[in-house]
Amino acid sequence: MSSAPAAAVLRSVMDGVPAAIAIVDGTGVVVQGNARWNAMCRGADLPTRGVEWWSLIDPADHRRLPCGAGPAVEARILASEAGRRWVSVTVAPIEDEASGVVVTLTDIGGSKRDEAERAALHRVADAVTRGDETRRVFARVAEEVAWVVGADGAGVARFEDADTARLVGRWAADPVLGAQVSDALPLRGEGTTARVYATGMPSRVDYAQLAGSAEGLPHLWRISAAAPIRVEGRLWGVLGVVSRDPGRLADDAEQRLERFADFVGIAIANAEARESLLRQASTDPLTGLAHHGAFHDSLCEEVARAARYGHPLSLAVIDIDHFKRVNDAHGHQVGDQTLRGVADQLQAHARGIDVIARIGGEEFAWLMPQTAMPGARVAVERFRVAVGDAAFGAVLRLTVSAGVAALEAGHDESELFRLADEALYRAKGAGRDRTMVSAAALGDGVT
Ligand code: GH3
Ligand code: MG
Ligand code: MG
Repeated sequence: MSSAPAAAVLRSVMDGVPAAIAIVDGTGVVVQGNARWNAMCRGADLPTRGVEWWSLIDPADHRRLPCGAGPAVEARILASEAGRRWVSVTVAPIEDEASGVVVTLTDIGGSKRDEAERAALHRVADAVTRGDETRRVFARVAEEVAWVVGADGAGVARFEDADTARLVGRWAADPVLGAQVSDALPLRGEGTTARVYATGMPSRVDYAQLAGSAEGLPHLWRISAAAPIRVEGRLWGVLGVVSRDPGRLADDAEQRLERFADFVGIAIANAEARESLLRQASTDPLTGLAHHGAFHDSLCEEVARAARYGHPLSLAVIDIDHFKRVNDAHGHQVGDQTLRGVADQLQAHARGIDVIARIGGEEFAWLMPQTAMPGARVAVERFRVAVGDAAFGAVLRLTVSAGVAALEAGHDESELFRLADEALYRAKGAGRDRTMVSAAALGDGVT
């Protein structure tokens, strides 16, 4: 049996190895690659020889690459078959050609990416359990998930209404490009966000394959994938990624997105729970109205705002007449029910921007932003008459007295409150069941 020529033997040995192997000259240029190497070059659209071997590696990983013999390092290759796959890189000098080397790339894809994902999920979980602001959690998740699935950009969007989702967190490899993407994503059409909204399922869209493509997305994104974000079971929004190169987005991007979307859902649920605790802490448990402390905070804020913008602001202080008699005649429990009934009446008469509070046992405050005295007085009178006409269970008749004041130039919140309280005192003194306005307002000709 005659021996095969050395070059042919070398070729068949190289081609028989499952790793990608290249013989590289002293300047790093590929002289010869095996079949696997050449396939990788085709995937990355590179010539199979005559190029520097590291041009196959993601530029982000260039600084990790070995220059000579040494332990294997992990890096990502640009092969477009399955996103940026992880490979182990070794470099071995060629004995009799002092300056040449053999470069071997071994696929470690799955395990390495799983490890990277675990680490990323861990960082996200940390941010969520630390109670980071949701805005920061969203931005962090976008960045981590983009890295894990090999995307150029990522975002968290909240379903706003039936037409629009609003981007509330985002990350882009190229921030200038990322900033050009609109905050509003359409919920009609063929985009991934629209599909997740319609189906509640993860989705992937290759825009190049869509007729009339790229609705609402800049044409530079070729592919996108998204997973639903659920908050305690309800569909809240999407976690999505975009890429310019369809080949670089991981095949299982949707499944990976789902794992991150779970954490986003938890972060939102936590934030909502915190908000509801805060609301409870500022609410009077009997009537559900703001309590005295919360009212005082609102009063300071509204006085400052009215002064800043030169808007009118009115305040009514309301007290139930002879309420002691209600308790005495019907018991404390009926008294409580009556207080709730009066609070409901107040709620029914106040506008959305008004602040209503229970500031004492049977005393209420009604703050009316952007309302001058005549309007405030009319509103309070309407409420007073309604209470007089209403039936409060066993309590047949109930009346209230009210004092109303409007903010004057140079007055602060205590002065406004003092004027309203003083008017209430006069209403009581004049026989109850009536509304009086502050002396300052009377001086302006308001009666
Ligand atoms: P006036 O017309 O002068 O305001 O007479 P009034 O009886 O309403 O006023 P007063 O201040 O003498 O009594 C207020 C009563 O309100 C005394 C108290 O028993 C009752 N009250 C205060 N807080 C509550 C409460 O939370 N529940 C009940 N049931 N009663 C309360
Ligand atoms: Mg009273
Ligand atoms: Mg009172």
